[in-house]
Amino acid sequence: MSSSDHQTHVALFPSAGMGHLVPFLRLANTLLSHNCKLTLITSHPPVSSAESHLISRFLSAFPQVNELKFHILPLDPSIANSDDPFFLQFEAIRRSVHVLNSPISALSPPLSALVCDVTLISSGLLLNTTLNIPIYALFTSSAKMLSLFAYYPFAKMSDPSSDFIRIPAIGSIPKTSLPPPLLINNSIFGKIFAQDGQRIKELNGILINAMDGIEGDTLTALNTGKVLNGVPPVIPIGPFLPCDFENPDAKSPIKWLDNLPPRSVVFASFGSRTATSRDQIKEIGSGLVSSGYRFVWVVKDKVVDKEDKEGLEDIMGEELMKKLKEKGMVLKEWVNQQEILGHRAVGGFICHCGWNSVMEAALNGVPILGWPQIGDQMINAELIAKKGLGMWVEEWGWGQKCLVKGEEVGGRIKEMMESEALRKQAAKFRDEAIKAVEVGGSCDRAIQGLIRMWSKGT
Ligand code: UDP
Ligand code: UDP
Repeated sequence: MSSSDHQTHVALFPSAGMGHLVPFLRLANTLLSHNCKLTLITSHPPVSSAESHLISRFLSAFPQVNELKFHILPLDPSIANSDDPFFLQFEAIRRSVHVLNSPISALSPPLSALVCDVTLISSGLLLNTTLNIPIYALFTSSAKMLSLFAYYPFAKMSDPSSDFIRIPAIGSIPKTSLPPPLLINNSIFGKIFAQDGQRIKELNGILINAMDGIEGDTLTALNTGKVLNGVPPVIPIGPFLPCDFENPDAKSPIKWLDNLPPRSVVFASFGSRTATSRDQIKEIGSGLVSSGYRFVWVVKDKVVDKEDKEGLEDIMGEELMKKLKEKGMVLKEWVNQQEILGHRAVGGFICHCGWNSVMEAALNGVPILGWPQIGDQMINAELIAKKGLGMWVEEWGWGQKCLVKGEEVGGRIKEMMESEALRKQAAKFRDEAIKAVEVGGSCDRAIQGLIRMWSKGT
């Protein structure tokens, strides 16, 4: 038997949005470095240009990867009760997944395991009625959020007398911090959350971009049945490391940063999933200017990048733009976030608390000023404030719903940048993160263990 007969063949099935695609491709990179054969299931058409670009760059970097292209069937508009293009894509993929049955069964060598996105658990399990292989989910948020996902189907959401959801062994989460679509009847996100949360017991395991150094308590609670009996093994494989293929040839602020003193610059970015309102953009601009710090700020004016066409000057107005240019660098494009966070001149991160960004901040020891916009971000913001990786101004509420004045933004930036306690704690998390990703560290051991199990069909 040749060695290739033993090669573990894993299929990865991401859903939609860079917050899902990026961690899948970082996992892919790790599996390839361990000599796995990979099939990447790509759903067409993708929502954003950022996704198409990243998939192309990944496939050019790794021509040995087998791309299984899958054309999504159009979604019946009568069930499309959301205006979020990414949620609509989740639902469209779920409703089209039967199309994959025969091409995925025909893969050669046959698959050893399938890792599906957290939003595609039912889909992965459906495919498994013919595949009959180990099915894993990649959970793309924090372990705290996973405990909510696991427990949610059993929580009494309808109890109007309580303002909290109490999760065994974890604590209480205020209903105001839950992903807002969970509070809306029949939302697409709410349905996926409830349906798939109930089915996690059917999975062989859940991979998560988490590490004991930050969420050891929650990971232990999940893995000892204290959150809920029957949760499959939750395997922390974080922090994920950024990969070379991710870097677009984008205009980079790195040369500019090179000339600035250590920890003197604020980086502000709110991820790939939300747009900032024009009024809030102006307030953030004046806040950055009044903070007195230099800054790199990534502005997003539209949810989907293909529609984001207007120039910065038109959005900011001439006067504000002039002031901004004196102190900082404002960009309106995809940036290499990891490279910016890793630059010694960056000393603080105004962040929406998307989980990938939080873990990237931890990996680089950069304190966060959390400003949740949507989804799981408030739960993550509470977590980082509790752990001391950052601060969270609860009164700011959801970034998508409230307007925070520039003066307030500027004051909080100063507070973050001047906090010795945050800086020390962030440095501690960076040390933990570096230990986890070293050869022989917790990530390495977890991945090797997984590949061994997959090669034995478990
Ligand atoms: N990202 C980036 N450049 C950008 C915007 C985002 O590299 O201009 C990356 C970021 O580093 C992270 C991912 O895209 O890895 C976004 O995921 P996250 O979970 O932080 O937030 P989301 O975009 O899903 O809200
Ligand atoms: N983009 C990216 N990586 C790249 C190039 C572009 O993620 O290497 C993203 C970025 O968000 C940009 C958008 O794709 O704003 C549009 O890219 P482009 O200008 O190439 O236009 P399009 O692909 O939509 O024609």
